[in-house]
Amino acid sequence: MKAQALANKPEPSAMTHKSIVVSILTMRCPVCREGKVFANNFLKMHTLCPTCGLKFEREPGYFLGAMYFSYGMAIPPLTIMTIFQKWMSPERSMTSCILVSTLIFLPMVVPIVRFSRLLWLHFDRFFDPQE
Ligand SMILES: [Zn+2]
Repeated sequence: MKAQALANKPEPSAMTHKSIVVSILTMRCPVCREGKVFANNFLKMHTLCPTCGLKFEREPGYFLGAMYFSYGMAIPPLTIMTIFQKWMSPERSMTSCILVSTLIFLPMVVPIVRFSRLLWLHFDRFFDPQE
């Protein structure tokens, strides 16, 4: 376990001075802030950081923690859209408003999943940098 942690430690030359905000917005590794976390524009992630070799998924089920972030990013806009629709047309049923809000929100699911995983990675590595 210790050897694996040492193997994942980036070389000093691989470390950059990007801010954590920039590395999150550009979807980079939480340790070296250079390697891309996602392999494509959808949900496929690299197993290891292409730059420093950091293993992104620390343990099975690791990304369950990302659900807290995705919940926080999804529920407020859904609630606001639903309340806005109900306010604009009070005669509509609440079920209809929720359904329309969900359909409008569907294209945002992939970006929210990506950013929630990224926020979880950075959050977890910030508070528990040990391997
Ligand atoms: Zn890295």
